[in-house]
Amino acid sequence: MTRVFNFSAGPAALPQSVLERAQKEMLDWNKSGMCVMEMSHRGKEFMSIAEKAEADLRELMGIPSNYKVMFLQGGASSQFAMVPINLLRGKSSADYINTGAWSKKAIAEAKRYCDVNVAATTEDTKFTTVPTQDQLSLNSGAAYVHYTPNETIGGVEFSYSPDTGDVPLVADMSSTILSRPIDVSKYGVIYAGAQKNVGPAGITIVIVRDDLIGNPITSAPAMFDYKVHAENDSMYNTPPTYSWYIAGLVFEWLKEKGGLSGMAEINKRKAEKLYAAIDGSDFYANPVEKVSRSWMNVPFTLANPDLDPKFLEEAKAQGLVTLKGHRSVGGMRASIYNAMPEEGIDTLVSFMADFEKRNG
Ligand SMILES: *Cc1c(COP(=O)(O)O)cnc(C)c1O
Repeated sequence: MTRVFNFSAGPAALPQSVLERAQKEMLDWNKSGMCVMEMSHRGKEFMSIAEKAEADLRELMGIPSNYKVMFLQGGASSQFAMVPINLLRGKSSADYINTGAWSKKAIAEAKRYCDVNVAATTEDTKFTTVPTQDQLSLNSGAAYVHYTPNETIGGVEFSYSPDTGDVPLVADMSSTILSRPIDVSKYGVIYAGAQKNVGPAGITIVIVRDDLIGNPITSAPAMFDYKVHAENDSMYNTPPTYSWYIAGLVFEWLKEKGGLSGMAEINKRKAEKLYAAIDGSDFYANPVEKVSRSWMNVPFTLANPDLDPKFLEEAKAQGLVTLKGHRSVGGMRASIYNAMPEEGIDTLVSFMADFEKRNG
């Protein structure tokens, strides 16, 4: 068996030890005689899996007790609607920071429910920067402020969390959750689709401060009401049980790795190695300003784009796959989430140097 280094932006690589454990437990989870996929979500076996996953996530992120943790369906894209549906609470406008493709999608969805004030946009830099705190025109009457700490496509990441005073801060952390420690108490809502840095597709983590739950717009479907999910421990309907279980295994793996501060050290080192390789050559380029470079998604271009297909083909032959950039950006993109081992970065960096030598 040969495992590749998979640089996919999502669904993305999972830690090999997690997959091996799932394989071992496939037919018989913990002497239950059942696969986790076959268990009732209300049975004691699955309840114990669900509770352990939540407890481990709370420990890893240091989630205060006045926050609810929910494991939902519908992806981050459903949160683009659930956030205004639940957080407007009688107000008519919300502030959004626009730093790229995912911010834009969140803004478009919010416009169905409220007036959107774009508090800052970096479109004039082609989304290669992040606004500073001074550049944010925040409205004190806004129901909340929404931002995207890491833009998966553009590869820009906030190096700070915006100060929004008493207005709740909402973050789409789909591609950065669990990559480094954060102070959860600064946020009203944190949400993330799992398929980048947590587990399989099909589950979405939503962390909401208690006081923001319970006042949705009147026509809100039950499935889009945070209160319904919070009161039912994310089991109002059948949750994606297997994805929840795998996410739990990933949380255990993260704890073994030294938690989020341990992970942050590794992630920083991995990203620095790759950016150094790009910056140290005239053959490769990354357009993002240095302070706003993502630790998770690293887009880069070749000086001669005609070589792109050859680069991808030769990389693949060396077990370096899914490096093709997003169609809107072109070039390459290496997504280097928690599960990408440092060895994958080293292999990519030496391939890049070798390719340049032969083609530069
Ligand atoms: C992938 C991604 C999304 C969309 O997630 P889905 O789970 O497919 O809805 C939203 N925001 C960001 C930042 C993403 O990376």
